[in-house]
Amino acid sequence: MFSVDDERYIEYLQSILATPGYESVFSSEQQAPLISRYRQGLSAFKGNPSAEAALLRLETFETTLTGAFESPDTELIFRPLLDEISLAADELGVGLKQHVLLRTSPDVSLTPAARPNSGGHILFIGRGTSSFCNYWAKVYTKLSLGLIRSGLRDQINDAEQIRQGFKQNPDSILSACKHALHYAWFGTMLGRGKDDLEPMGEPYRFELLRAMEMFVLAHEYGHFVAFEYSPELAQSSDPLDCKKLELLCDKLALQLSRRTSTGVKNWTSFSGAGAFLFLRCAELSDSIRAILPSGHPRRETHEGISDTHPSVPDRIENVRQYLMETTDADQLQAVSEYLKEVDLMISTLHSDVLSIIRDTIETQDSTG
Ligand SMILES: [Zn+2]
Repeated sequence: MFSVDDERYIEYLQSILATPGYESVFSSEQQAPLISRYRQGLSAFKGNPSAEAALLRLETFETTLTGAFESPDTELIFRPLLDEISLAADELGVGLKQHVLLRTSPDVSLTPAARPNSGGHILFIGRGTSSFCNYWAKVYTKLSLGLIRSGLRDQINDAEQIRQGFKQNPDSILSACKHALHYAWFGTMLGRGKDDLEPMGEPYRFELLRAMEMFVLAHEYGHFVAFEYSPELAQSSDPLDCKKLELLCDKLALQLSRRTSTGVKNWTSFSGAGAFLFLRCAELSDSIRAILPSGHPRRETHEGISDTHPSVPDRIENVRQYLMETTDADQLQAVSEYLKEVDLMISTLHSDVLSIIRDTIETQDSTG
């Protein structure tokens, strides 16, 4: 367990993770209304066990987590998911000997951070990750509603059919362009502002959001599992081993999340589509950042293509292979069809967003 002294160490680690823009999230002017909004919202569900548990977590947050970098979202969003993952790990025989301390990451990009340690693990995650997942979950929901309206959802075979669906809901493409540009410029989805979604899309948005958050969190948990069960690989500094470790953590993330109660109820999570969606949207955001003309305050990505991280296509292929090998025969077809749909939708979106933004930049360049 960690002592009071370690609090200072944790705050030090948080200060290293802090990225430009974090001040606007962690100032007391921002926190107070957020907490009262949460309290108001949750109080409306008196008697509901999940809402009561969330209120309790909010209280714990207020009375114990007073560090400079803490935000209530971490407890409210990620604590229940982490509890589910820990339980799944125990059931699968990869339970952790060390305690996991969940704390807010002041990195406002999409990237969380795991700090495995023989004296206890620390997992930093927060609004940077959840807001990224939320905005892209909305885009995907809008795209899907467009496809349903075009009557094509059950027979998607190529990008042209998908573009027919896009035309039914052009707002989805516009949102995607704005999100990708915002992320490229500011290195975060925070501050992006309101992005309306029609109420009938809400349940699906929530399913996608939770599936993505579950995958990201379970991947970080996978780093702790690897640290305890494959220490040689987890502590190697060889770039090849680092890539192997990331692919292993992706597999562990799928194995763990499928076993959680969210994974059992949430088809996007169970099928691995949440992993696809998260990785593909991160890839899209990275490629927009790469084409922005110099002069824009670009931020280098942590989890992008690097010596220590496999490329997104490699991660996607690794995830797909794992899912194909481990899914029961009676669910295999449904899983592979859903994965194909997500992949085709996001890759089509990717190429359209890229060409719209590229054209805009070139037009601006030529008009001076
Ligand atoms: Zn990782």
